Amino acid sequence: MTDSSPHIVWFRDDLRLSDHPALHAASMSGAPVICLYVLDEVSTALAPTARPIGGASRWWLAQSLRTLEASLKRIGGTLVLRRGAAADMIAAVAREAGAGHVHWNEIAQTPHLAVADEVVEALADLNVGAHSYAGDLLVTPKAIRTKEGRGLRVFTPFWKRILAMGDPAKPLPAPTKLKPAPGVASDKLSDWKLEPTTPDWASGLRGMWTPGEAAAHKRLDLLLKGAVAGYATDRDRPDREATSRLSPHLRFGEISPRQVWYAARFSAAEQPKHAADINKFLSEVGWREFCRHLLFDVPDLATRNLQSSFDAFPWRRDDRSLLAWQRGQTGYPIIDAGMRELWHTGTMHNRVRMVVASFLVKHLLIDWREGERWFWDTLVDADAGSNPANWQWVAGSGADAAPYFRVFNPILQGEKFDPDGVYVRRWVPELKDMPSKFIHQPWNASPLEFARAGVTLGETYPMPIVEHKIGRERALKAYATTRNS
Ligand code: FAD
Repeated sequence: MTDSSPHIVWFRDDLRLSDHPALHAASMSGAPVICLYVLDEVSTALAPTARPIGGASRWWLAQSLRTLEASLKRIGGTLVLRRGAAADMIAAVAREAGAGHVHWNEIAQTPHLAVADEVVEALADLNVGAHSYAGDLLVTPKAIRTKEGRGLRVFTPFWKRILAMGDPAKPLPAPTKLKPAPGVASDKLSDWKLEPTTPDWASGLRGMWTPGEAAAHKRLDLLLKGAVAGYATDRDRPDREATSRLSPHLRFGEISPRQVWYAARFSAAEQPKHAADINKFLSEVGWREFCRHLLFDVPDLATRNLQSSFDAFPWRRDDRSLLAWQRGQTGYPIIDAGMRELWHTGTMHNRVRMVVASFLVKHLLIDWREGERWFWDTLVDADAGSNPANWQWVAGSGADAAPYFRVFNPILQGEKFDPDGVYVRRWVPELKDMPSKFIHQPWNASPLEFARAGVTLGETYPMPIVEHKIGRERALKAYATTRNS
């Protein structure tokens, strides 16, 4: 190994060039740089709590890797792909290339930290330098602790602590040139079969999303330059384009939370009249941070109730209702619209996520883990922290949880946040001609209104699978047993 021996950058959930501490350090070394992505679904260190990513996320990953490869090419780099246990793959590439150093950004999650430890060990055996950097969060979880050394379980004090710490480190620029390294064999992305073929269910995803770093910055710009006015209230409206749609970009690290922080702060200073909306937006990014910190403390967040009183909760097994929920056939238009939006586009509006989740765990009394699993497979932004944390929040078993007696009324939620039924008409086209008065409760329309709208309940659109009042009362009874246990 010499001073000019190549440096490897191990890309993980950070598929970007700018504000990438590992890439920055490697490029600053002046040595040739090898960019490596390892699809690791086999390291035993991952097994206890990390799951393979779901179908929609696999689709996103494929697009994002292609975009990253193109960006690297523009600055003289190449992307090497390997599939297998990270420690084995990185050691193999280091040996093949005669590399002297490997750099990566940490993922502050127990299983990923354990995999990184294995990489460190494997590299030590080869006498190759191992360098890791913080980069996936605003603040490392170890920096925010209670006096007893635990992570915080309530959002407001958590976010106050972060704000009190002041600005995080400034984002780093993207390298403008990488010194090419000698060729190293790479897998072919298409051999990984990340994208669906038969059937190809991804056309809705393709129509909706442009994965990649440039698109992430465009989304953020669009929000901060326009839609952010009114964000604090409009973010609850699924019938409006009022949020950033940054979540999958953040999930795959195509943009860093530090970049979002600085862009938001700058924008708030430039447009003081929108500062409150911008700060609200930033606090939502704070929720992502909160969920990730929680996951750091509770690696089995996707399977274990944070509140153990829920371990004896009387969940029902009801496969028919679960299927109706997954397919958007519950008979409640706002629920069905959300579940179909999810299936078609890989995302769902946040307000509607809360309503559909509440419906599953409360009206249907189906275990939140069933819903979490479905979201894990179908969301392009499926996140190991945000998904289970939000499901547990809705179920009441989590940190800073919603009050147990809050059972969202799917009719009122629809009427409040989609008053003209624009969202429902888009995703439940069989109701598109229903008058607005009945769009969220079609069963109350008159025979004449049904005839005019071309709707036959029970045939063209289902009757509700459970009556709201009955579902609510059953939920309250079940929750009372848990509270009293
Ligand atoms: P914006 O309103 O523009 O918010 C900006 C960013 O803040 C988001 O991109 C996201 O990174 C973060 N954010 C916003 N709300 C939350 C929240 N409640 N919790 C954590 N982060 C948040 N978000 C995910 O990123 N991945 C998930 O797997 C996920 N699963 C969820 C499951 C349920 C049951 C619920 C109720 C919410 C879930 N969320 C999840 C949170 C939220 O719905 C999405 O982050 C949001 O809808 C993304 O849209 P946006 O980017 O336009 O959000």
